[in-house]
Amino acid sequence: MIPAAFGYHRPKSVQEAVGLLAKLGDDGRALAGGHSLIPMMKLRLASPANLVDLAGIAELKGVRADGNDIVIGAMTTQHELAGSDLLTAKIPILRETSLQIADPQVRYVGTLGGNVANGDPGNDMPAVMMCLNATYHVTGKNGERRIAAREFYQGAYFTALEAGDVLTAVRIPVPAAGHGYGYEKLKRKIGDYATAAAAVVLTMKAGKVESCSIGLTNVAETPLWAEEAAKILVGSALDAATVKRAVGAAEAITSPASDARGPAAYRTKMAGVMLARALNRAKSRAAASA
Ligand SMILES: Cc1cc2nc3c(=O)[nH]c(=O)nc-3n(C[C@H](O)[C@H](O)[C@H](O)COP(=O)(O)OP(=O)(O)OC[C@H]3O[C@@H](n4cnc5c(N)ncnc54)[C@H](O)[C@@H]3O)c2cc1C
Repeated sequence: MIPAAFGYHRPKSVQEAVGLLAKLGDDGRALAGGHSLIPMMKLRLASPANLVDLAGIAELKGVRADGNDIVIGAMTTQHELAGSDLLTAKIPILRETSLQIADPQVRYVGTLGGNVANGDPGNDMPAVMMCLNATYHVTGKNGERRIAAREFYQGAYFTALEAGDVLTAVRIPVPAAGHGYGYEKLKRKIGDYATAAAAVVLTMKAGKVESCSIGLTNVAETPLWAEEAAKILVGSALDAATVKRAVGAAEAITSPASDARGPAAYRTKMAGVMLARALNRAKSRAAASA
């Protein structure tokens, strides 16, 4: 199908984009890489009368260090995330996750901002951002504000963004040097969304887990931060019995839909399997770099 007719705007600054979106109201929608929005428009699941293309706004691009944080412009592509030396050195789970999103064609244009703003529980970056305790920078008609990723997702395609808001950047505190990490994703084929996926970032000290954070993808209406599961692991040596208890706690907060990727019970179990694998990988990496 082809999308309904729409007007096209290409602002040069965030202020201009926010002004346009405020003026257009319900008739306007931000366009980033277009790899979620345009397919929705082609299926007529979305029919915005006007698209405000953020691609011409230079200030929305790039990766930079800011004290102990890394700040990533919303229009930075998934391909650029995977290729960033700074991210590979400081927050390598972002490269690991980026390379599991779709295929190279999608990653060349799909953006971090679009991935986290979209609100699709199938998107991979939101759970990773919850795991990393990221903060989203948002500019709207009433100025700038910051929203924790862990408080951003309210339901499928419902987020803390208000009409006319532009997500400008993602701020991530750099995990401790020597941390372990893993993003494990079960998918039916290359380029597919997750049946279930798990993100883990942890630190180990003297063979025991010192800190741990866990995110889960596509096993509820929103991405999940598995706080209780992570708490169970702290202080343990990631022995089989403790991992089993943590996996149980993580599975307990899932509520996936039964769909073409499998029945709900299977997807819950796969979330547990992905978590166990991600913990294992994170432990081996923490040990290797400690
Ligand atoms: C074949 C295929 C396979 C895919 N597989 C995966 C996958 O495995 N994992 C995965 O995570 N994704 C997958 N995707 C989606 C892809 O990663 C998209 O690029 C991403 O979800 C949206 O980013 P975008 O830049 O394309 O945003 P767009 O499609 O342009 O926008 C998406 C939504 O976010 C809003 N938006 C975008 N940027 C902003 C902003 N800065 N401020 C406010 N609102 C904004 C738009 O208004 C729109 O509602 C796939 C896509 C395709 C086509």
